[in-house]
Amino acid sequence: MKTSADITAETLDQLAAGLRGDLIAAGDPAYDAARAVYNGMIDKHPAAIVRCRDVADVIACVRFGRDRGIELAVRSGGHNAAGLGVADDALVIDLSLLRSTTLNPENRTVRADAGCTWGDVDHATGAFGMATPSGFLASTGVAGLTLGGGIGYLTRRFGLTVDNLLSADVVLADGSLVTASASSHSDLFWALRGGGGNFGVVTSFTFRCHDIGEGGTVIAGPVFYDLADVGEVMRWYRELIPSLPEELSGWIGLLTVPPVPPFPEQLWGRKVCGIVWCYTGRHDRAEAVLEPVRTFGSPLMVGLQPMPFSALQSTFDPLYPAGMQWYWRADFFNEISDAAIEVHRKYGALLPTGHSTMHLYPIDGAASRVAADATAFAYRDGGWAGIIVGVDPDPANAGLISQWTKDYWQELHPTSAGGAYVNFLMDEGQDRVKAAYRGNYDRLAQIKERYDPDNVFHVNQNIQPASNPGR
Ligand SMILES: Cc1cc2nc3c(=O)[nH]c(=O)nc-3n(C[C@H](O)[C@H](O)[C@H](O)COP(=O)(O)OP(=O)(O)OC[C@H]3O[C@@H](n4cnc5c(N)ncnc54)[C@H](O)[C@@H]3O)c2cc1C
Repeated sequence: MKTSADITAETLDQLAAGLRGDLIAAGDPAYDAARAVYNGMIDKHPAAIVRCRDVADVIACVRFGRDRGIELAVRSGGHNAAGLGVADDALVIDLSLLRSTTLNPENRTVRADAGCTWGDVDHATGAFGMATPSGFLASTGVAGLTLGGGIGYLTRRFGLTVDNLLSADVVLADGSLVTASASSHSDLFWALRGGGGNFGVVTSFTFRCHDIGEGGTVIAGPVFYDLADVGEVMRWYRELIPSLPEELSGWIGLLTVPPVPPFPEQLWGRKVCGIVWCYTGRHDRAEAVLEPVRTFGSPLMVGLQPMPFSALQSTFDPLYPAGMQWYWRADFFNEISDAAIEVHRKYGALLPTGHSTMHLYPIDGAASRVAADATAFAYRDGGWAGIIVGVDPDPANAGLISQWTKDYWQELHPTSAGGAYVNFLMDEGQDRVKAAYRGNYDRLAQIKERYDPDNVFHVNQNIQPASNPGR
């Protein structure tokens, strides 16, 4: 691959001349803001960033990079914690200006351009009382989240984000544009549903939508318990979740109560075990369905209330603005074992900063009824995706949060199912990428061989072409 020294101002001028979007190179006043991603720990210096205005700009960038052997990075929401939306010396194909959504209420579909955040999609679907399964935050990018699988509040009821993907428009490594769906480039469509950004640049996605709650209003919110009760709470939770109707889901975590309203002031700064619930069924059934949640144990706070689904999705966004230091490690878990609970108890008490946290997200119900080889996303055994997250605004604490995360992960990993959700990986090497895909890796490598034999798209959790794995 060429370095930035090989990309002359002249060649960049040639590229810029054919674009509708802006090309921002080193030395440009906008360069530092344009190269920044969500994780403030990432400090990469690309050769240039192109803020694409349309699909033609994307095609021009792919051809420019491929023909000159220049590394390409693809950025949509910029939320990837490993910082895979940017790379040193690369040409960054930045899709963040492509943010239009089109809702079709009759077909019950929503089309989202690749630069959309989930907040954009929730806004479009919420107006019709609908939603498509996404994640747990509004600021995360649609593109990266979808391409890795997509785990969120609606996973139990409607499946992963990829289980609701109907089609995607993709610029391939040769610069051509194809639509991937069940009936067109079906092998590519299979791979896109979990295989990450390995197969091309997706410029838009079309998803199936569902009615949720009543007119889009769900009953949701956190319930907090004393950290001393973590064993009792986790044991109850692990038995309860599989027995619940799929309209109710909840992720469990360890966290410090944020020192802001609406959290009660007497709890600010207290380390707790929390479950954030979301009930998407009919409201006249809510009381019965939520009864076990309301009556268990001695909660410190019960924050369940009716709210628009979009409000739930954006609840945590203000607490986690862009630019903080992030270091995380993850795994899938088939069960929350007693041994795991002891590790959670130990590291919950050691949460190093107010923003650091641990979450376990259920992947059961509708998501586990899809066969493990039906899409690239392989872990569908009815367990949890776990993530340990060290976060702090101060770069001086980068070492502290990283060490806590690594130590916690090291002790917890033996209780895991082996691999991690690909969107929760840092730069952890090829074996961890393979473990993320289990038996689906070989098929992914074959499809990579077909669509990107030269591994043009390799700034990602890389799947290497089958016949040329060193590429
Ligand atoms: C605070 C936070 C909360 C999160 N919550 C959730 C959650 O609830 N559920 C969940 O499933 N995940 C969650 N994630 C993980 C998230 O799914 C990944 O970080 C994902 O990569 C973010 O997508 P993005 O478009 O914002 O990323 P970017 O950084 O823009 O891109 C990430 C990767 O995707 C590839 N990519 C991006 N856009 C395209 C494209 N258009 N075409 C092809 N490849 C592309 C890039 O090459 C890169 O490898 C969360 C992450 C953070 C930081």
